[in-house]
Amino acid sequence: MGVRENLGEIGRNIGKACERSGRKIGSVSLVVVSKNNAPERIMEAYDAGVRDFGENRVQELLGKVDVLPGDIRWHLIGHLQRNKVKYVVGKVVLIHSVDSLRLAEEISREAVKRGIVQDILIEVNVAGEESKYGVSAQGAFKLTEYALALPGLRVRGLMAIAPFVEDGEDNRRYFANLRQLSVDITSKNVDNTFRDNFNILSMGMTGDYEVAVEEGAVLLRIGTGVFG
Ligand SMILES: *Cc1c(COP(=O)(O)O)cnc(C)c1O
Repeated sequence: MGVRENLGEIGRNIGKACERSGRKIGSVSLVVVSKNNAPERIMEAYDAGVRDFGENRVQELLGKVDVLPGDIRWHLIGHLQRNKVKYVVGKVVLIHSVDSLRLAEEISREAVKRGIVQDILIEVNVAGEESKYGVSAQGAFKLTEYALALPGLRVRGLMAIAPFVEDGEDNRRYFANLRQLSVDITSKNVDNTFRDNFNILSMGMTGDYEVAVEEGAVLLRIGTGVFG
């Protein structure tokens, strides 16, 4: 199947998952993960109407920003090293993968220097996997609190990469946990601006996005399901 057909099917599946869980369809958005795909291929998704694309490596992201249309909203979804921060701040609408105080500080410093506000998510290692980045639930409280006090940053919510599983159902508890964590962080924080902004849950990939929708995902990151 082509990219357009894949997008159509994913859209229908999202719709059904919203219906099952009593959610409004407009409350879920798709970030198409374009890593490892050439610009021509990415343009097939663009021509089908996609404007939000995610990349996990800075180098690859920058190469694509330069050659693809300027109205694309780029998302950095992969691990970010502090020495690369200066290349992405202001170029991406959302950094999904903030996982340390020092990284948050560096992004803040760069955003202030450029006179902008950078939206970020805190990455949580929901299953405590050694192979994955991200903070613990406790760490997410601390990091959110800390980032809240930094200028040039807006903490928009939480992100998780669930384990690779055959059956997406196996990740339901991790998605539910991330959602609960976001509720807990919000209820502990009295700052109204923070509460208004802290409303994104980035979770769900090709193998488990329907379950993620049922558990409250706001942004889905889907690559293989779109490009094959
Ligand atoms: C590659 C990647 C995805 C997309 O994974 P698929 O299974 O291809 O949909 C999502 N999130 C992150 C962080 C990724 O690196």
